[in-house]
Amino acid sequence: MSTSTPILPTWAPEPVETPVIDTPDAAKKYYIWTIGCQMNVAESHQMAAAFQHAGLGEAKTEREADVIVLNSCVVRQASEDKVRGKIGALYKLKREKPDLKIALTGCMATKHEDELMKQYPVLDLVFEPAALEELGRIVPEMDDDLAALPHFYLPEHTAPSVTAFVPIIMGCNKVCSYCIVPYRRGKERSRPIVDLQAEVTALAARGVREVTLLGQIVDRYGYDFKDGTDLADLLEAIHDTPGIDRIRFLTSHPAYMSERIVRAVADLPKVCEHINLPVQAGDDEMLRKMRRNYTANEYRRQIETIRAVMPETTIATDIIVGFCGETDAQFANTLSLLEDVRCDVTHVAMYSPRKGTASARWEDDVPRETKLARHQAVERLQERVSQEHNDRLVGREMEILVDGQGDGRWRGRTRGNKLVFFADDVDRLGQMVHVRIDRATPWFLQGELTAIEGVPVTAMAGVGA
Ligand code: SAH
Ligand code: SF4
Repeated sequence: MSTSTPILPTWAPEPVETPVIDTPDAAKKYYIWTIGCQMNVAESHQMAAAFQHAGLGEAKTEREADVIVLNSCVVRQASEDKVRGKIGALYKLKREKPDLKIALTGCMATKHEDELMKQYPVLDLVFEPAALEELGRIVPEMDDDLAALPHFYLPEHTAPSVTAFVPIIMGCNKVCSYCIVPYRRGKERSRPIVDLQAEVTALAARGVREVTLLGQIVDRYGYDFKDGTDLADLLEAIHDTPGIDRIRFLTSHPAYMSERIVRAVADLPKVCEHINLPVQAGDDEMLRKMRRNYTANEYRRQIETIRAVMPETTIATDIIVGFCGETDAQFANTLSLLEDVRCDVTHVAMYSPRKGTASARWEDDVPRETKLARHQAVERLQERVSQEHNDRLVGREMEILVDGQGDGRWRGRTRGNKLVFFADDVDRLGQMVHVRIDRATPWFLQGELTAIEGVPVTAMAGVGA
């Protein structure tokens, strides 16, 4: 319901799995449940690292756990409902295991700690995402040295994986009228370049080959240093990290994605040609009410500029349908923008009023059926456009970083972030391969292995045997 295609959701409507690491002799076990954006996923990994640092092991199920952390999202009512449902479902387990500790963090947890503790007696702790050391209150093992550790720097304890998220700027200084994020994540704080270089280096040492730099407006990285530092400087500073082959970043904002940043993407070979640039609406009056600070034509021109510099760039966007007062004609402007811009991926959401935001005071007057119909119209348009984009890739050889398996096939992504499947009997996890595309759908591509780490399979003996 929340995303039109499964290709890189900027937002995960369903719980996200964190990799399970076997630590059979650990005395105590933790379980982390995560929904929401990549920032939450990154913070859950950070939390897992902190638990492991304190000697805890990862539980494969909630039942096996001594401590459960719920990492929450409230960007829409549907996500909040899911979190509340999850809390409710834990009462039974807590009755069976009275020693079980349950903590709530993420965007639901900020500013409402006492209220939530009162409302849900099953919770032992509610803590803000930035206050990891609070976990020491329910897990004594974490009490001693966690607070002393530099925040966001425990990668030596994270599970080996090919790709990793690296938060580079926390919070958001904008106040888009519909959005609750700034109220829950506070003002912008960029992490120093030296810390990020150290983290990326440590991740590479753990086998990570692709990093995705995260921020609500990733293009505002460094603004708070007030010394001219920007995202382009950071991209350059981490670019030559040995072992790192690909660098991505998200989410960009049309008012802040500068030409300097576009240039850096074009000039730095490891930075992938994939831009996440949410437009939210294609109607100027809606954009003004949303307080987005750009017009539909400015967005069109920006995409043209990006494509003029990098014709191969793939583009993902976000759309909100049924925002306060949106007429049929205004929605038609959104469809026409999507038709012009031809993004590779569109994440579409039905407007959901969030208490405390500006738009929550305005009438949520678009009926649910209309929102649903608009949601489907965006999905249909995007499905057609994605099919057309992907059809043009059939016959092409594409570079894929293999990051897992699905339906018995290997799975990976192109530089443009397209999902690709191929079959092979040999373990290809973590390898950079080339695949010749022979089938395209709107959501994924399929093909045949042609090269491994730059060496053509025809030049190898016994490959796939
Ligand atoms: N910082 C990013 C988006 C963060 S929220 C940006 O500026 O674009 C992720 C997505 O959730 C948004 O792009 C928007 O499409 C959606 N969203 C946010 N608030 C919403 C609301 N109240 N109702 C419906 N969708 C919402
Ligand atoms: Fe929310 Fe707007 Fe900030 Fe994005 S830029 S997090 S939509 S307030």
